[in-house]
Order: sequence, then structure tokens, then C-alpha cells
Amino acid sequence: MPNDIFKPADYVIAPPATATLPVEGSDQLFPVNRVFCIGRNYAAHAVEMGHDPDREPPFFFFKSPSNLTSDGTFPYPSRTEDVHHEIELVVALSKGGTDIPEDQALDHVWGYGVGLDMTRRDLQGQAKKMGRPWEVGKSFEKSGPCGPLVPAAKIGHPDSGAVTLDVNGERRQTGDLNQMIWKIPEMISELSRFFDLQPGDVIMTGTPSGVGPVNRGDRLVGHVEGVGTLTVDVV
Ligand code: MN
Repeated sequence: MPNDIFKPADYVIAPPATATLPVEGSDQLFPVNRVFCIGRNYAAHAVEMGHDPDREPPFFFFKSPSNLTSDGTFPYPSRTEDVHHEIELVVALSKGGTDIPEDQALDHVWGYGVGLDMTRRDLQGQAKKMGRPWEVGKSFEKSGPCGPLVPAAKIGHPDSGAVTLDVNGERRQTGDLNQMIWKIPEMISELSRFFDLQPGDVIMTGTPSGVGPVNRGDRLVGHVEGVGTLTVDVV
């Protein structure tokens, strides 16, 4: 069929909805394209997972855009008995590019949020042992609860500030954005050498130490200083 008579509405099935994140203080939504996650970006977390941060640099993996949710709940997932919380700063890109220099990287950021990289740790552990991909451990439904994004135009570009996670009022994770191994400009620049970054791409920037299991009925309260607070109930 020639392009000039192709009607984009002619899908053979209904197209999936665009994944979105809410924007603080606004009715507008941020459309999510891809979700890049960074592994072992805080030295103390790398150590608690049994790795040497001086010998193994951080790396990337993906979640699916539709894994991100913002309804304040996390349904305990299937096929696991060990789901862990990982509190993370979320970076949302307004501009794409390839080979982005570090000194221009922050110009590509639309805003920031607080997110959880929920992880089926038992399944991730099996995958690591067998040299298999991590998707069953990381990229399952509703595995990325996120709070509303706040524009960089309002809060600037945070490069330090406390990152914490409380479970039922007890502090479990504590770190500081200034402890990231790859800083935000570095991760954007590095990603843009592997991928053609696009507007709507989101980066989950890695978790500080203190990851641990959650149970049904738990209330998780995550906070990134200068960005916001995320409250999630495990249901
Ligand atoms: Mn993570």
C-alpha cells in the first residue's frame, strides 16, 4: 500500500495506551518512552550485593514503560517469595540525542521524580547464576511505582541530597545523591553512546544500600531530598 493512502488509525488491533507519569501540581502527563535502569550505581549497594565497585562499573538494564505506576499501590507479584524495595531518583528526558557530551547532558532533562525499582530478588538471583537476562526479576507488571515528576525548571538539577526509604516507619535505606558512581550527566552521556536517546526516555538511577524484602500490608515511604516523597502500599 503506498504511503499516501496509509491511514495511521488502521491498526489491526487497538494500539496499547501510552505509558505516562503524572506531573506535580498539573493535569498534564509525561509520556514515557523507554525506562533505562542503572545497576550498582552506589558503592555500598554494590558491596551488599557481593560485588566490588572498584572493579565493576555500573551498567544498564530495562524495565517496560507500562511497568511504571503511580496509584500508590504495589500488588505483590506472582512466582516469587522475595520481593525487594530499591528506592531511586528518576530522571525524565525532554530531548533525545546520540553522543551527548556530559556538559550538555542536563539540557536534555525535563524533570525528576522518586521511584521504586521493585525486584523479584529470588528470580534475579537465579538469572545471575545461570547467566540469563534479568527481565523476570525486574520488568514485571507494576514493578516501578513512581511519584509525580517535578520539572527541573522548578527544582533545578539535584546532585546531592538524602535518599531514604522507610518500611512501616522503620528506616531501611539511606544514601545521598552525591554517592552515585555515575553522576546524572555521565549516565545520560554514556547511555547516548549505546542508544539513540529519545524524548520521553526515563532513567532510574540506581539504589543506595539497605535493600530488603517487602510483605503484603507494608507501607513504603521513599524520599529524595529536594524532589519529593513517594508512599506505596504493598497489597
Ligand atoms: Mn535498581
